[in-house]
Amino acid sequence: MSGAELRVHDDALRANTAWFAERTGGRLMAVLKADAFGHGAVARSVVEAGATSIGVTSVAEALAVRASTPDVPVLSWLNPVDADFETAVRAEIDLAVPSTEILDAVSRAAARAGRTARVHLHVDLGMSRDGAAPDSWAALCTAATLLERHGTVRVVGVMGHMSCADRPDDPQNARERLLFSNAVRTARRRGLRGFTTHLAATAATITGVGDGHDLHRIGAGLFGIDPSSTSDVLVPTLSLTAPVVVTRMVRAGAGIGYGHDHVVDRATNLALLPLGYADGLPRAASERAEVQVRGRRRRVVGRFSMDMIVVDTGDDRLHPGETVTVFGRGAEGEPTVADWARWAGTIEHEIVTGIGPRVTRTHCGAEPGHAPAADTRETDSDGDTDTATATATDRQEPARA
Ligand SMILES: *Cc1c(COP(=O)(O)O)cnc(C)c1O
Repeated sequence: MSGAELRVHDDALRANTAWFAERTGGRLMAVLKADAFGHGAVARSVVEAGATSIGVTSVAEALAVRASTPDVPVLSWLNPVDADFETAVRAEIDLAVPSTEILDAVSRAAARAGRTARVHLHVDLGMSRDGAAPDSWAALCTAATLLERHGTVRVVGVMGHMSCADRPDDPQNARERLLFSNAVRTARRRGLRGFTTHLAATAATITGVGDGHDLHRIGAGLFGIDPSSTSDVLVPTLSLTAPVVVTRMVRAGAGIGYGHDHVVDRATNLALLPLGYADGLPRAASERAEVQVRGRRRRVVGRFSMDMIVVDTGDDRLHPGETVTVFGRGAEGEPTVADWARWAGTIEHEIVTGIGPRVTRTHCGAEPGHAPAADTRETDSDGDTDTATATATDRQEPARA
């Protein structure tokens, strides 16, 4: 371990989850794919905060979630044809199905297990990605109807995913809503009954373009990310800090890092941090990124290395072991995940899912399995309440150590 620490602010996660639970009228599937967007074990927290089911991509992820939250429905939607569907069916994990090949594999696994598989038929609405192509949808529904009669599968859901929901005025949204309604009608015409329908993810839920269905699959929003940039109620859920390894003074003209991309133009102090692109700090942010130390923003200088970056701390000579904030909630002037995404020319999702295994993850703000203590509410030292945290729910800030 490098000494770097990724703190997951459980209170923020719960507040975001509670906001979506309210916004969706309780029809909230928490999407915890990619290790919960890099946050680790948070299934219990989101369920306690109002999520009624959990969605992930692979069967392996679904089984891990099942172990931590045994009584909560789990859906796994992206698996190769030879995935371990039998174990999934035995564990009563719902499986999304984008093709007749996968449907057949699930059906065979259910037959081996002597169970009925719960499946969600997935229709592609225009991304040309996951989900059945519109021209194969009717055949998929027919095949599922036949397997329902054999008792190996039961269709419990029909799902779609929108391509342009972060732009609510895009005419593609209306086309995809219509395609989805038609797909649902086709499923009924082919004899399927009693399934739920789900269309909206974070952007479609915030902007409302995916409303009108039984379930909302929310990932990014739980972690404070709004792809539509139209909402100001979500709060950041992560802080990344690292200890200074060594410091040194250099003269004007010193080159820093590979290729001497950066040459200092004055004598200055440098601090070395044990975090690099292998830990998820995007190399593309070289010469743009900043960190915060002793309450001030400082520039990261030179090309990012695999394992380390160098910070120009000006007249401040830091102490070895002193803590530097790489990103945080932004309430005290520190950079945010959104800042890092901008510096690297990417999206926040890629930053939060990219933090590597050398970084220790800690969960703070609530004991696992318990609501946050009422006395942890915090006011900023200058007396302002933190406006970024004002959400529909009355919630508490975790104590900042
Ligand atoms: C990732 C994903 C979601 C969640 O999307 P967010 O924008 O993160 O809320 C929902 N549905 C599917 C099929 C996904 O792959």
